[in-house]
Amino acid sequence: MFLVSDKVIVVGGGLAGLSAAARLAYNGCKVTLLEKAPKLGGRAISIPMKGFNFNFGAHAIYARDKSILRKYEHEIGLKVDWKDFSPSKAFYDMGTFTTPMPATLEGLYRTKVLDSQNKWRFAYEVFKTMSSLERGEPGVLIGDYLQKETPQVRDLLLTIASSNFFTNEPEKIPSPLFFQYYKRLFATQRAVSYIGGGWQAIVDSFAEIIEKNGSKIITKEKVTKIELDGNRITAVYGKEEKYEADYIIFCIPPKELCQLFADTPFAKYFEEYSHYVPTQVVVYDVGLSERISSPFTYIYQKAQRVFITDISYYDITCVPDGGQLMQAVAYLNEQEIAEGKADEKVATIESVYDKHFPGWRERLVAKRISKKATVQEIKCIEDQRLMPVKFYSLPNAYFAGDWCEGDGQLSELSFSSAYNVTSHILEHAVPAEGMKKATSA
Ligand SMILES: Cc1cc2nc3c(=O)[nH]c(=O)nc-3n(C[C@H](O)[C@H](O)[C@H](O)COP(=O)(O)OP(=O)(O)OC[C@H]3O[C@@H](n4cnc5c(N)ncnc54)[C@H](O)[C@@H]3O)c2cc1C
Repeated sequence: MFLVSDKVIVVGGGLAGLSAAARLAYNGCKVTLLEKAPKLGGRAISIPMKGFNFNFGAHAIYARDKSILRKYEHEIGLKVDWKDFSPSKAFYDMGTFTTPMPATLEGLYRTKVLDSQNKWRFAYEVFKTMSSLERGEPGVLIGDYLQKETPQVRDLLLTIASSNFFTNEPEKIPSPLFFQYYKRLFATQRAVSYIGGGWQAIVDSFAEIIEKNGSKIITKEKVTKIELDGNRITAVYGKEEKYEADYIIFCIPPKELCQLFADTPFAKYFEEYSHYVPTQVVVYDVGLSERISSPFTYIYQKAQRVFITDISYYDITCVPDGGQLMQAVAYLNEQEIAEGKADEKVATIESVYDKHFPGWRERLVAKRISKKATVQEIKCIEDQRLMPVKFYSLPNAYFAGDWCEGDGQLSELSFSSAYNVTSHILEHAVPAEGMKKATSA
């Protein structure tokens, strides 16, 4: 038991660290957040360039009505300007034809990826997933599990998983994880939403909540050492400062944890997770001087597993007047990374832009290419496991990030692991004099 006014150090100012620090600060803890970079946000950054605001990533939030971000909105006043995706403008490029994505009943009716018999089978599969009649089987990958389906339904389910999990190996997703994920997503009213103002808007809102509630953010402060008393962490060290705390939340990836705990008996806990393969992609954003009119705001080219999102259709604040900002993402698997195939992916993406947005080259004002962006620190395939948020042998240390156990994928893992660790801390807290008891999960 400890007083909610006791000290908590959060190491890492990405989405996990920011959301953990903001929730604790709002509930009365004295938090100090330490971030090694000059800017907050970690991988969730927005970069201004020639009047455009490039986001690192599409900043899409899946199933927003059931998302953990909604809890941050309602509980601690996080400001989110939701921009809902238009399913009627989402298409699949199947090579010889382009067809609506079956993201709604209307899309299912209009799409050509399924014939009429398979439309019924697919709808039944969705129903079974939503009602938990379909749960997968422990130890069986989804590619094998779906062998019982018709080729069209199997192919469509794997295509959908490919885009939600940002992977070109959807068949390697464990089947229980697949059905757990889609039980929630199929039941949502809003499958995909973007954030007005991009990642920067929620990074700023979290930072404001932290500082307004009397807690501290220190950037350019890399944590390089920890101090232990038995199995309790008593302090962490920055460049010159020592920061003492009762509780520490580490929101830094397993590789960094291995380094930080290197001279302690606890390094072995993180090693397994530091060797796992991350989800990596090629990202190619283009800022155009004027909009190219198109029936699509999202197009997924199935053969090469490339998708393009017209970000500025949803968020006008990221472009100068009349401009357009599009983002293309191509998935990479381990072999392609090892063979250095990123340059080929860049060329593929340009050909997809050429096909669906002719004239983009003439209107190009700014572009940003990232050939190896880490979308998720631990890819949820085969036997790769997410890291626990707590270890029994480290009683006052917690862990959060998109490499930790939680709900959903991508940033949802960062938000939900942070939510779970802060709930744990707040549930064990005794309110300081004059404070209300902190809310819990
Ligand atoms: C191209 C791309 C597209 C994406 N698209 C989406 C999307 O559409 N939807 C979605 O939900 N998610 C998306 N994501 C994923 C999302 O960006 C990440 O899941 C999320 O930002 C991870 O946040 P995090 O806090 O868990 O980790 P990180 O962002 O990695 O944060 C870790 C932080 O710790 C800091 N740090 C590390 N070591 C130390 C140290 N020793 N001392 C102090 N600080 C330290 C780092 O500087 C960093 O700020 C995308 C990501 C990318 C790259």
